[in-house]
Amino acid sequence: MSADLDVAVVGAGIAGLALAHRLRARGRSVHVFEAADQIGGRMTSLRRDGYLIDTGAEMIGTTGYPATWRLIREFGLSDVEVPLIGADLAVWREGRPRPHVGDPRGLAEGAGLSLSDRVELAKLLGAAALRRRAYDPDTPEGTPMGGRTVAEIARGGVHDYLLQPLSGGFFGWDTERACAGPLLSHLLAVGATKTFRTYRDGMDTIARLLAARLDVSTGVAVREVTTTGSGARITIDGASLTARTVVLAVPAPVAARLHPGAPEYVRRCEFRPMAKVICLLDRPLEGLGRSFALAVPAVENPVLAGVVFDDRKHPGRAPARRGMLTLVSAPGVTGELLSASDDEIARTLLTQAERYVPGLAATLRATVVLRFPHGLPMPTPAALALRPEFVRRPAAAVEYAGDWYALRPSSESAVRSAEVVADRLAGADLAVAGA
Ligand SMILES: Cc1cc2nc3c(=O)[nH]c(=O)nc-3n(C[C@H](O)[C@H](O)[C@H](O)COP(=O)(O)OP(=O)(O)OC[C@H]3O[C@@H](n4cnc5c(N)ncnc54)[C@H](O)[C@@H]3O)c2cc1C
Repeated sequence: MSADLDVAVVGAGIAGLALAHRLRARGRSVHVFEAADQIGGRMTSLRRDGYLIDTGAEMIGTTGYPATWRLIREFGLSDVEVPLIGADLAVWREGRPRPHVGDPRGLAEGAGLSLSDRVELAKLLGAAALRRRAYDPDTPEGTPMGGRTVAEIARGGVHDYLLQPLSGGFFGWDTERACAGPLLSHLLAVGATKTFRTYRDGMDTIARLLAARLDVSTGVAVREVTTTGSGARITIDGASLTARTVVLAVPAPVAARLHPGAPEYVRRCEFRPMAKVICLLDRPLEGLGRSFALAVPAVENPVLAGVVFDDRKHPGRAPARRGMLTLVSAPGVTGELLSASDDEIARTLLTQAERYVPGLAATLRATVVLRFPHGLPMPTPAALALRPEFVRRPAAAVEYAGDWYALRPSSESAVRSAEVVADRLAGADLAVAGA
């Protein structure tokens, strides 16, 4: 019996859309089902009163994002449309911001680290750089760090004022449980923070371009995925459809819930929650020098992990003479905050933020609270150990894509998974044709 669809992709985040695009280019017929009313997932942008709000992802790397740049170039976007942010990252230490975190200048100036911390950091990064090929973001399980956690490889200032604020603030990780190898692979790949870029027209730029060329149904939540003799079946509000292949391009815990037969790796992949408060301001705020973001270490503040000046990221994020910034909650409190009301979340983070950005409350016009129960994947030792078996398994009727595929907390990982899975499925087709 023939299937209703050739390929059904569940999830119109950047992974699902990029995969549908790659499969179409190989002649497959693909339909994408998205539960939300809009496409983009964790790379959705909101447009409100002239403000352009990046709900999840904020930036991409000039380097370390090769799959993303392949799409950017395919769509003919110029560097003007993906501009350099052109400002640095600061970390808060003992009453003031220390600029040039993640930048060679920071190694000379300090960037919140003592001289002995900088020597320890140079040794750590130097040793990793010497074995650079072993720090391949595509194979997070293959680094010389094995299953050692971030907290195990760095103590003192390097942990408290660099690796914890970076991985806790930007990825929501718990450094006692997150493996260091994937973090170092990511840091080596993206290089200096001053090379970070953003999309001029919003972080959803590529998702919009992709969706315009694809068959996508929004507002359609898939409830269950089961295998059939010749493919798979998806259930959508009582109705069901069959497909030769179903790809679950959703966070791993969602994939495990939709398809109880998912491999153990999928069931053991952990995601960390994130919460953000977007502050729409009457005017741009001064302060923090030229930094576009401030990382706040957990040892300095257990509630607020970071502040991003969106209007410094790109002037087009806020209307003329207005400002916008984002407050990010700290990993230790995010889980609890997710069940609080919007007002409570905003009040909690705003109260903390006033210390780092004085005058914030007085310039505030409105807030937008964003919750991510599945914010970013966290590479635990258990997930790393299960990954080789997951990638070696033969192609099947139910496949998976997403940033968690390679346990890298980055949109690049989602886009790259689309390339890898498209190759897997093409390989399976060849095997069937040759049989
Ligand atoms: C706060 C935050 C900040 C970030 N900052 C950065 C950054 O600066 N740079 C960077 O590179 N990355 C960043 N990321 C990570 C980046 O956003 C993600 O890696 C990427 O967007 C993941 O894409 P995805 O397609 O794998 O998953 P998603 O974007 O989560 O897409 C999954 C889609 O599936 C849909 N879905 C779920 N369940 C169902 C269902 N039952 N039926 C149908 N559809 C369903 C969802 O609605 C969603 O649209 C950040 C993430 C967060 C949360």
